[in-house]
Amino acid sequence: MKRFKCDVLVVGGGGAALRAAIAAREFDSECSVILVTKGKLGTTGTTANSCSDRMAFHATLPHTEPVGEDAWKYHADDIYRLGGRVSDYDLAVILAKRSCEAFEYLDSLGVPFVKKDGKAHQFVTDGSKYARACYTGPKTAIHIEEALVRRARELDIEVIENSMIVNLLVEDGKIAGAIGVDENDEILLFDTPAVVLGTGGGGEVFEHNVYPPGATGDGYALALRAGASLVNMEFIQIGLSSVKTKLACSGSLMRAVPRFVNDHGEEFLIKYFSEGTPWMEVHNVVFEKGASWPVSCEHASSQIDIAVFKEIMKGRRVYLDFSTNPQGFQFDQLKTENRQRYVQEVNNPIPDDQREISPLARLKEINPASIQWLKDNGIDLEKGEMIEIVPAAQHFQGGVKIREKGNTEVRGLFAAGECAGGQHGANRPGGNALLDCQVFGKIAGEEAVRYAKSVLPNKKAITYEMCNGLQKEELIFACNGVIGAAKTGNAVGKRIYACELKREIQKLMSRYVSIVRTYEGLSKAWQQLEELERCQVQRGDLSLMEYYEILNLLLVAKATVLACMQRRESRGPHLFFKSEDDLGPVPGNPDYEKYFVIIYKGNELVAEAQTPVRPDDNGR
Ligand SMILES: Cc1cc2nc3c(=O)[nH]c(=O)nc-3n(C[C@H](O)[C@H](O)[C@H](O)COP(=O)(O)OP(=O)(O)OC[C@H]3O[C@@H](n4cnc5c(N)ncnc54)[C@H](O)[C@@H]3O)c2cc1C
Repeated sequence: MKRFKCDVLVVGGGGAALRAAIAAREFDSECSVILVTKGKLGTTGTTANSCSDRMAFHATLPHTEPVGEDAWKYHADDIYRLGGRVSDYDLAVILAKRSCEAFEYLDSLGVPFVKKDGKAHQFVTDGSKYARACYTGPKTAIHIEEALVRRARELDIEVIENSMIVNLLVEDGKIAGAIGVDENDEILLFDTPAVVLGTGGGGEVFEHNVYPPGATGDGYALALRAGASLVNMEFIQIGLSSVKTKLACSGSLMRAVPRFVNDHGEEFLIKYFSEGTPWMEVHNVVFEKGASWPVSCEHASSQIDIAVFKEIMKGRRVYLDFSTNPQGFQFDQLKTENRQRYVQEVNNPIPDDQREISPLARLKEINPASIQWLKDNGIDLEKGEMIEIVPAAQHFQGGVKIREKGNTEVRGLFAAGECAGGQHGANRPGGNALLDCQVFGKIAGEEAVRYAKSVLPNKKAITYEMCNGLQKEELIFACNGVIGAAKTGNAVGKRIYACELKREIQKLMSRYVSIVRTYEGLSKAWQQLEELERCQVQRGDLSLMEYYEILNLLLVAKATVLACMQRRESRGPHLFFKSEDDLGPVPGNPDYEKYFVIIYKGNELVAEAQTPVRPDDNGR
């Protein structure tokens, strides 16, 4: 066992964790900070790996409209109101008010934001009236990660790579330390009063997701086992994505209005619209889908996600075909506002009549770069190849319930970024996740130092005995006496290999917890997850890290399903159906303007409804 001692332990190597570690060190240069990350620093997690056509970082800057002292209010309001009023408004205010400082810090580190006349260029995203999205291009997140890694190295922050924190040690409701494992299955013991979780989302709980490998929601599991709670776990961004390339199929790919066909060559969309819907109406909805990735029940275009999901559930594979126009398509019969939107996007103009030729002709006109990108990634639309699509998970809006200092219910435990929850609601206006990592990363890092200094004089060292003699396989369970996840050697249920367990979890989640959710389906998923929990999980030839990741997935899946079961209405990406046979989900219900918190009570995972902090509570 390797032993470490520090004032603040930061878990993760993405945007939130790096920002927290940097803030802790900048706040107090004497503070000893250790950052533990699963891979090599700068290579793992969503921030280091994700791209889209134009990745957004939201900020209210001095020139952001509507200019003036109150501009932040519009930003906070967007997060809260578009989020469905199920998040803490005061956290939205913090995000909005501190977004300028967060942008300026990244700018000072050399993140190459696109500027016009020396000012950040900003564009509008998701339903917001004002342009707030700053960007460097498709790689905004990667540029942020690179800049933060450079800064962490300048500050000489101690980094432990290729290692995973598997459990938090809690004594008298306070963090006492943490246990990890490294790539050689060696145990790491950290003596620390403060831990910041920056562990990202849990996309791997779904069979189809656009996360990089390793997004197993470890922070959710760590926090739950330590006694903290999770919030808003039912709100997960899911949208139509390419199976082969993981590309989110939105924007111009939808505005070119491709054919949606199944593996029998059938154009199936119309089957999922009410009887008598004309094809042109369906085509207009496809066009509008371009502006609403991920699925959201507040957008009519969720009908497209529902149709694709249901078709796949019938055992079909679903493709976007750009070679031929969909049935009955006529460009001039798109709604006026859709045609105007199309014209705004024209990049490579062609004569009007050629727009009628095919979706590919239109895509060439509005986004020729996407055709090349797809070709470079193995899909040649020019040769008539099609894009196979599935609903795939991209972002967890909920997470470890934090308050304004990034603090949780466990003293000394902080969380930031995608692993934290309460700051976003059901929908997350694009650009606020990257922002969130920077704002709450900084806050959590600084508050962790403050807290550590206040308790260090009286902190008892963790004893060697606390961790000595543990079976490696049981590290996760043995420390806090909390079980609640698949058991190992002593379990009585059937034996299952961990890799098989992962497949089972992913299958259940993609079947019952994806686009179409029903109480019946969720109950089935819950029951089967409970059965899996009773199994004896065999590690097989997996490393300890891989094994613990899978055990975490089981707990993350349970927390997510339990949260989904509480919300018997539709809101954001949570489309709740009375029956899978229904064409559409049940509507939203104002009685559900509350959030659900998941926590361990003894060994039971339970859900509790709570009232979020409202704007009025803040004097607005
Ligand atoms: C395709 C795509 C496009 C997106 N586009 C946008 C956008 O335009 N705008 C926007 O705001 N957001 C966007 N997002 C979301 C945003 O990128 C993420 O929410 C954000 O980058 C998450 O950062 P993070 O620091 O919280 O987590 P990550 O960057 O995922 O980092 C998590 C880190 O924790 C480490 N880790 C995890 N568990 C452990 C453990 N137990 N022990 C040690 N280390 C651990 C991981 O290895 C990793 O280094 C997008 C996401 C995707 C997938």
